Amino acid sequence: MLMEKLLDKLAIDGGKPARSKPLPPNYPGAMAFGEEEVERVSRVIRSKSPFRFYGVDQQDTVRTLEEMMAKELKVPYVLGVTSGTAALMVALKALGIGYGDKVAVPAVTFLATATAVICCNAVPVFVDVDESLNMDPNDLERVLDGEVKAIITVPIVGVPVDMDPIMAIAARHGVKVLEDVAQSCGVMYKGRYAGTIGDIGTYSFQMNKILTAGEGGAVVTADRVLCERAVRYHDQGMCRPQLRERYGLDGKDEEMAFAGQNYRMSEITGAVLVEQWKKIDQIVGGMRRNYRKLREGLKSQIPTIEFRKSPDPEGDVGCTLGLRFKSALDAARFNEASAAENIGTYCLYGGKPVYVNPQISCQRSADGRGFPFNFPFKNPVNYGEGMCPRSMDLLPRTAFMPVSPLLGEQDIEEIIQGVAKLYRGLGLE
Ligand SMILES: *Cc1c(COP(=O)(O)O)cnc(C)c1O
Repeated sequence: MLMEKLLDKLAIDGGKPARSKPLPPNYPGAMAFGEEEVERVSRVIRSKSPFRFYGVDQQDTVRTLEEMMAKELKVPYVLGVTSGTAALMVALKALGIGYGDKVAVPAVTFLATATAVICCNAVPVFVDVDESLNMDPNDLERVLDGEVKAIITVPIVGVPVDMDPIMAIAARHGVKVLEDVAQSCGVMYKGRYAGTIGDIGTYSFQMNKILTAGEGGAVVTADRVLCERAVRYHDQGMCRPQLRERYGLDGKDEEMAFAGQNYRMSEITGAVLVEQWKKIDQIVGGMRRNYRKLREGLKSQIPTIEFRKSPDPEGDVGCTLGLRFKSALDAARFNEASAAENIGTYCLYGGKPVYVNPQISCQRSADGRGFPFNFPFKNPVNYGEGMCPRSMDLLPRTAFMPVSPLLGEQDIEEIIQGVAKLYRGLGLE
């Protein structure tokens, strides 16, 4: 009994930490960097051809990445771009979103999902989340007022969105669907990769995401016209012969050209990502395996434990494990005490829906002249704090544990025992 008490003493109260060292850094792609990335980047440098469309000895790394992604995701058109945000801009512009449009965005997401809408001169409106912390299909029709032209779904840190009801509602209202899969490369829903279910999908390869080149992104679609519009927006409105021929695009400037940006992916980024993409099974497979072991182990140690829900647990990518508590205070106590045990769990986005951020709540774009919020919408947009009450309730009550593919058996056992100790010690059972 005394022994048990001693073992149960929390590290935060001076007990022995459950783990002697912190979890592996939460950069799964970068942690998997090896000589393969070095070699392929070096080849680009040695070939003196860092640009995808011409050079002296082209290595076609961006093209290779696009082909690898297309094959794995089973989608005909993939376009490499400079970032996940660029991918969102390109996808929104491909869908024709602009001034006078609204776009439905989940209340729980990273800033970029909502700010890309504003940077496209449209106005985001927010949909509450369900128990998965992703867009709640039951709250979607509340915002579809005829002025909403597209819906952006976001599988937040590894759990798929319940796409079937969302696709059905979108079809009924004649609204397009963009899947922002930035955080969840590899996540699946009913046997299909997220990103390939809606009209268009976007990926990010920033440092914090699952696969990385530091920066990078991609747009995927099965629609040839959306593909051509994406190609054009990402490349100054041009449709160069390389992509036109490969993808069988129309390419007629008189009908299709418009002003675009430069969001082209560099061959150096492409080189890193070709090697990263080859490791998707290793990285995502490792996460999934560890995520399942942690869930099963925790469930057997703590029968009352509540996890974040998923509409298709088979499809979870497993990059984080969400633990649900009765109150925000309990979650905060858990996060503080878990850090002392060297099991760093965290509160996602400070526990706040995206629309409370000043970048959105101030309704201001860079020119400061009220654009695009000044459009005379029939149904004016207001961002009240209490707009999405379930997000406000569920997000701060959830603690997220990063799950690395690098965790070994001993790490997993220490985490399970440590979390069980925390539930007992903090009275969270
Ligand atoms: C990170 C992220 C983005 C932006 O990706 P960048 O590559 O950093 O521009 C967009 N959407 C979501 C949901 C993200 O998590």
